[in-house]
Amino acid sequence: MMKYDFAILGAGIAGLTLLDTAFRRGLWLDKKILLVDRSFDKNPNKRISFWSTEENPLPHFEYLAWNKLAIFSNQGQQIDLVTDEYRYFSFDASAYRANLLAKMANQSNVTMLEGEVENLEQKAGQCTISVNSSLFHAEYVFQTIFEKPLLKAYNQYFLQHFVGWKISTKQGSWDADKAIIMDYRTPQENGTTFIYCLPVSEEEIFVEYTIFSKNLLSKEAYREKLTSYLSDVWNLDDYKIIEEEYGVIPMTDFAFDRRIGNIISLGSAGGDTRGSTGYTFTNTVRTIDLLLSAYQKGNLKGLSFPSRRKEQFYDAILLYVLDSGNYEGHALFTDLFRKAKTTRIFRFLDSKSDFVNDLHIMLSLRTSPFLKGMFRLLKKKWFAL
Ligand SMILES: Cc1cc2nc3c(=O)[nH]c(=O)nc-3n(C[C@H](O)[C@H](O)[C@H](O)COP(=O)(O)OP(=O)(O)OC[C@H]3O[C@@H](n4cnc5c(N)ncnc54)[C@H](O)[C@@H]3O)c2cc1C
Repeated sequence: MMKYDFAILGAGIAGLTLLDTAFRRGLWLDKKILLVDRSFDKNPNKRISFWSTEENPLPHFEYLAWNKLAIFSNQGQQIDLVTDEYRYFSFDASAYRANLLAKMANQSNVTMLEGEVENLEQKAGQCTISVNSSLFHAEYVFQTIFEKPLLKAYNQYFLQHFVGWKISTKQGSWDADKAIIMDYRTPQENGTTFIYCLPVSEEEIFVEYTIFSKNLLSKEAYREKLTSYLSDVWNLDDYKIIEEEYGVIPMTDFAFDRRIGNIISLGSAGGDTRGSTGYTFTNTVRTIDLLLSAYQKGNLKGLSFPSRRKEQFYDAILLYVLDSGNYEGHALFTDLFRKAKTTRIFRFLDSKSDFVNDLHIMLSLRTSPFLKGMFRLLKKKWFAL
């Protein structure tokens, strides 16, 4: 049976960023590390975006950045967001993954194992992992394999699902320095629906048809909607699709286990995906930083992660409101961005919000659907006890 110091389950964005950050900090270079994924070759197109106040938030990888942000309401009103110290960033996550996998393949202390993780147990401070029916031991396991959890009766489980295209065209009429993070100028019949537009240049743009709902559509349906949007809103009929991305991100108030003994979960599996938005990357980077800083101080054993109760509670209410249909998602998010300062919203979503900031967010929204959502949630929780 093979023994390792650390096992990383899942060589996706969280697992690879953890390893890469550790090595860049000069950590774990003398550790025996097992990196497992079901496939190192399959690498579907994925673009990851996030906001940040940092000048260079991804120093070792190429990214795009926008200084200006906007949203469009369902009625067609443009709302330019005042972002102050924040900028919006986006990178090609499949290229990022390929790059880090190539790096790990050259790292003599990392064993890359392609296979299906079937089971994970721990006894007396030792973790045992079963991969394709073979057993491996590790002192610590960093677990990034997401599985839909066994929900409690009161949990909400929405999906953020989308098809995105990178297109090139000579007909472009957008501002290349302005990202449109939510364009609601599209029918809302399948749930909260918006198009996300990230200009790459004067002639290239990334557009994504996104829905928050409980049911997926056929891939063809997203493509048809994108085609209509491009034609109706941007008057585009002559363009080339360079890339297609498809994704489903869970949006839930389920409280994922962050740590059970020597098994630490991160990425979507560790609850880094924000239930109200699906944004994950910044939270993952923050989790990695906490973890490695504790390791550097010799305190990995004692590391406990900050409570996420407040954020989970707020996200739960928002998901209950969306579920009730009392406050349509397009109206809710438009009100939020129209009435609250964007910096306050970003702080809130980054879990850096204090009471005053929370209050500003609450006052920007219609109160009664949120009160109803809160009572429904509390009632369900109460009866689940
Ligand atoms: C298309 C797409 C776009 C996204 N865009 C954004 C964005 O713009 N901003 C943002 O913040 N977040 C975004 N997200 C959410 C999130 O940031 C990404 O999903 C991110 O990849 C999560 O990292 P992760 O390591 O947790 O999961 P993953 O990157 O999915 O990695 C998990 C790995 O585990 C492997 N695996 C799974 N099951 C097994 C098993 N049983 N055995 C072995 N290996 C297994 C998979 O092959 C995968 O490589 C997006 C998600 C998707 C799908």
